[in-house]
Amino acid sequence: MQYANSLLDLIGNTPLVRLGRTLDLPDEAPLVLAKVEYLNPGGSVKDRIASRMIEAAEASGALQPGGTIVEPTSGNTGVGLAMVAQQKGYKCVFVCPDKVSEDKRNVLKAYGAEVVVCPTAVAPEHPTSYYNVSDRLAAEPGAWKPDQYSNPHNPRSHYETTGPEIWAQTEGRITHFVTGMGTGGTITGVGRYLKEQNSDILVVGADPSGSVYSGGTGRPYLVEGVGEDFWPETYDREIADRVIEVSDADSFAFTRRLAREEAMLVGGSSGMAAFAARQLAHELAAEGRTDAVIVVLLPDSGRGYLTKVFNDDWLGQYGFATGAQADHRTVGEV
Ligand code: PMP
Repeated sequence: MQYANSLLDLIGNTPLVRLGRTLDLPDEAPLVLAKVEYLNPGGSVKDRIASRMIEAAEASGALQPGGTIVEPTSGNTGVGLAMVAQQKGYKCVFVCPDKVSEDKRNVLKAYGAEVVVCPTAVAPEHPTSYYNVSDRLAAEPGAWKPDQYSNPHNPRSHYETTGPEIWAQTEGRITHFVTGMGTGGTITGVGRYLKEQNSDILVVGADPSGSVYSGGTGRPYLVEGVGEDFWPETYDREIADRVIEVSDADSFAFTRRLAREEAMLVGGSSGMAAFAARQLAHELAAEGRTDAVIVVLLPDSGRGYLTKVFNDDWLGQYGFATGAQADHRTVGEV
């Protein structure tokens, strides 16, 4: 019989899938391979850091049996932590601002986590602010805060798993690695590992226009999960050889193309990274580098963004093209 003892054994070892039509490249062109992270059991790349950070906290004694994991997050890291915590018998409390959608809160609750919602309209020093509440809960006995923005096991999980997987899957032929940057854990861990194997490999960050990683001031952008307005400890500024800036419009249009033309239903940060990989592939093709092998990491699924990227009204409200998505017809028209 072939089965896993726990869902946790299925984290990582995600496949590489060749991108085709959306690249608009001639036949003789660099190979562009997507590392499909939404195939992790919690649905995103963040399962990797969740399991590694929890294992390390168990080993150090920071997290004791029956302890409580407290993290200010409502996104993929929360799902990863909630899944691992449930399987290992820990409690989980996530603190999030009231602007976080009910759908996202319900995902965390479905795994058995507790969600504490804080008002956005109060100053950071107010006792009910997001920052104060998470610090207070994390200071309670038995509580442990992973803090993905400073935890070294975040980049380490990628150094130990994502990087070696990509190296082995490409049989060492990878020439370029492209990824978005949020905490910077992915680019730091994968980039460091790959450069240690072959220092000629180029590590390329993809970044929303406005984020500090591409020289911005942190001005707002709509792509979620990537870009920052500060420099996280988990980001090593020596790793990226280049950062490609991508507009929200290009990220969202390409996210839709991936679903429509490659059958890959992914989130906006995947569209952003893949758009940067496509640009890189065109540059390399123009230089005659048809032997290049580009790997681009796609962090999560598009299921979490059905009311955003995949909703024409939402896109239209920001003036973005809604193009490549099939219109629906009402019953009377059929
Ligand atoms: N995309 C999405 C959807 C994410 O949730 C994250 C993590 N914040 C990233 C990309 C960036 O990954 P990292 O934090 O490792 O830089």
